[in-house]
Amino acid sequence: KTTLRLDKLLAHSGFGTRSEIKLLVKRGAVTVNEKPVKDSGMQVNPDRDRITVDGDPVSYREFVYLMLNKPQGVISATEDTRDRTVLDLLGDEYAHFELFPVGRLDKDTEGLLLLTNDGKLAHNLLSPRKHVPKTYFAEVDGAVGSDDVQAFAAGVTLDDGYETMPAQLNVLHTGKPEQNELSRIELTIMEGKFHQVKRMFEAVGKKVVFLKRISMGPLTLDPELPKGNTRELTEDELQALI
Ligand code: URA
Repeated sequence: KTTLRLDKLLAHSGFGTRSEIKLLVKRGAVTVNEKPVKDSGMQVNPDRDRITVDGDPVSYREFVYLMLNKPQGVISATEDTRDRTVLDLLGDEYAHFELFPVGRLDKDTEGLLLLTNDGKLAHNLLSPRKHVPKTYFAEVDGAVGSDDVQAFAAGVTLDDGYETMPAQLNVLHTGKPEQNELSRIELTIMEGKFHQVKRMFEAVGKKVVFLKRISMGPLTLDPELPKGNTRELTEDELQALI
């Protein structure tokens, strides 16, 4: 598609809602190819047409890429009848982009979630054939040790009979269950079955009590990003991803 509505383009570029843009047009602030615009719904070609607002050229972008530090209690979906979704955490400036989460984290899982409207990138990251690694930090009830490292490296059988691909388990601390002490681990998996990390630990008789994603492919959760906040990917992060 080479053309789109001017008001949509301006909304995507941060000039407010469609009705606010109508007002801008009404007061003559918007020009296309040096001519004042009359109809905010006119079709424009962002590659060819020169668009200004109050004399300043408008740079249009189609795609947005946000890193979210997902908190517990919100759903990785675009809508939900009962609970808040990850989209409810975004500012109004992103309302027009039709963003969606790339993959899912459970309601009680925290950490890295990419939000975008770039369907092709999302597809590439989620395609089971691409084996994009995802690394999680977890606290586990049970003494996680070298037996589990070997079991996960070989693949374990989930409750539905599925055999997991080799996964890398890094034991940060082996807890002493008799002292109510949790184990702390990092686990990298190359696939993304439903509740996979929790079910892998269930397969070895242990229970995940805290789960946080820390990386996905080349993208690592920014340690400075507070829970519930988003930031746009940097140019370097984006280049690594696409
Ligand atoms: N594995 C899980 O069990 N839950 C998640 O949210 C992500 C991976």
